[in-house]
Amino acid sequence: MKHKVDKILLPTDFSEHAKFAVPWAVDLAIRYGAELHVLHVFDENAMDPLFFTYGGSAEEYFNNVRDGFRKEVDNYLEGADISGITLVPVLANGNPFVEIVKYAKKHGVDIIVMGTHGRTGMAHMLLGSITEKVVRKAHCPVLTVRSPEFEFVPPA
Ligand code: ATP
Ligand code: MN
Repeated sequence: MKHKVDKILLPTDFSEHAKFAVPWAVDLAIRYGAELHVLHVFDENAMDPLFFTYGGSAEEYFNNVRDGFRKEVDNYLEGADISGITLVPVLANGNPFVEIVKYAKKHGVDIIVMGTHGRTGMAHMLLGSITEKVVRKAHCPVLTVRSPEFEFVPPA
């Protein structure tokens, strides 16, 4: 039986580490002729660095993020050739891993592509907490892309 790959989900926190997933997601989207859904979850409870320095209310902030969202997505995808791809940028609000897993299920996503690490980028962690939870809970396969900074060096 052949599986279908019509929808690819690329969740992102817009960090440098999350960028390593971009060429994989874009390449798969081109090869399969799939839609590329780029999802960012705004989490007002987390120390979102932009929100932290904002000063206003979470609601105000969310609206500002929404206004500048498309530009953020374009910056994030910069350097990848997305000209032939159907791009679906999505901004959600809530607990990042819950929203990612929910969105994937609800929209019939076939594969999730994401970085092993994000903004925090702790070298001793195998996976960031969001990625770990998505891997554990997602209904579909998850392709995790490691940033070279976290390359595994086997013990001598
Ligand atoms: P921490 O567990 O402290 O957050 P981290 O920031 O290094 O560590 P994660 O947050 O798990 O690790 O980030 C790994 C990947 O998860 C990112 O590359 C990104 O794909 C996804 N991700 C993280 N936060 C979000 C978010 N708010 N919205 C969408 N995707 C996210
Ligand atoms: Mn994180």
